[in-house]
Amino acid sequence: MPDTLTVFDPITGFLDRRSCLRAAQGMLAAAESSRQPLAALWIDLDRFRQINASFGHAAGDEVIARVAGRIRMVLPSGGHLLARMGSDEFVVVLSGEDRPVAEAFGRLLLVTIEQPLGIDEILIHPSASIGLALLRAGEDALSLLERADQVMGEAKHQGGGRLEMAAGEVLPGYRGVSLAREELAIEADLHAALDSAGLSLEFQPIVSRDGRVEAVEALMRCKVFGRKLTPDRFIPVAEKSGLIIRVGEWSLLQGARFAARLRDEGRPTKVAINVSRAQLTSPEFLPALHGALACANIGPELLELELTESLVMALDEVVQDNLRRVREAGVGLAIDDFGTGFSSLSSLKDLPATKLKLDRSFIRVLPEDRRALAVVKAATRMGRELGMVVVAEGVETEAQQRVLNDANVDAMQGFLLARPMPEDVLMDWLKLRNNP
Ligand code: C2E
Ligand code: MG
Ligand code: MG
Repeated sequence: MPDTLTVFDPITGFLDRRSCLRAAQGMLAAAESSRQPLAALWIDLDRFRQINASFGHAAGDEVIARVAGRIRMVLPSGGHLLARMGSDEFVVVLSGEDRPVAEAFGRLLLVTIEQPLGIDEILIHPSASIGLALLRAGEDALSLLERADQVMGEAKHQGGGRLEMAAGEVLPGYRGVSLAREELAIEADLHAALDSAGLSLEFQPIVSRDGRVEAVEALMRCKVFGRKLTPDRFIPVAEKSGLIIRVGEWSLLQGARFAARLRDEGRPTKVAINVSRAQLTSPEFLPALHGALACANIGPELLELELTESLVMALDEVVQDNLRRVREAGVGLAIDDFGTGFSSLSSLKDLPATKLKLDRSFIRVLPEDRRALAVVKAATRMGRELGMVVVAEGVETEAQQRVLNDANVDAMQGFLLARPMPEDVLMDWLKLRNNP
């Protein structure tokens, strides 16, 4: 076999051991000339011999292939190197990524690999020991890989399931690590949820003064390996990691699909979907919105987007432009959590919104808090004058409902009227209300 041929491992599709060293030498030369950092991670599965012995080699190969898939899944984009070095050992060389990114990637790898793996009827709990080394001035590729391998050995020695850094490259203090680790664990869970139907939507009715269901709001739920995550925890992580684009497209599509179901079952109702800032600044957003409408085969009047107040007020041109196009397409626009941002009246008047949702914090203190009531009344009057439908969020008591009716809000949403419900439960709830 000629020495220059690149050989891939058949099970993982990664480079094989020999091609790895050659490719790493090439990356090192390029990194030196462009003065870019280079980081090597040596990954070794814990107790792999035991897996092979207990479940057989076919299962062992399957574990290797699936772990390789997980490594690929969390790899940052860029020209990085992936290799399989031996039976259960992998190498990743990250080019152009500095230490925080390399380290975060190492931790993400740990938690990603640790997710249980179902093979046939068996649930395997893999874990890995990972060594991380950063290229030093004047070092060659072989030495970089050796240092990563060596420090991986230390991780294994300390019981496995951990990341160690080569000498002189100390990990930061415990608090920072545990916080980052928690976020990375949530991120890994989200990846897993996206790949395993772990995401779902619940729908909460918004009820008009006349008792009509004005819309239903889609609220995301995430459940992985039996654990539930609340949107307050996973949405911020999704936003930080960029995953929100995929997650957001998923909820757009599912929400639109449900709007089609409501229509097809003779109960046409608008579905409101929450949208994050990163989605609105992305060039993919409008195509995704039109895609969702087309895919579900619904008209734009059956969809509404909810954007938090601080988001719609940002004077970002891309956002403003996207908002205008959303309205031109005929899709509704609601300002969510109104009262928590810092709207100026002048920007409010220019906003193409069709709905104003008064934040729960104003409603919670009603009816006792006269000042909150004054704000609710004024905001309602203003919203209606601007042609918007005004909704009160988080209505929990009849006393609140009474003062909100007096304040002239158009519709209410809250546990008093209905909790968020899975699709089928909501269908039943709708049927019961008008006794078909
Ligand atoms: P939100 O858009 O303001 O949604 C209303 C939240 O208030 C929901 O919380 C809902 O369950 C809760 N709620 C409704 N009525 C009551 C009530 O009477 N009392 C109380 N205490 N709470 C009530 P949830 O489902 O935990 O969602 C939290 C937030 O997560 C949402 O706030 C929204 O900002 C975000 N979110 C949810 N789903 C998505 C999504 O698909 N995409 C994005 N970007 N964000 C989402
Ligand atoms: Mg909302
Ligand atoms: Mg809200």
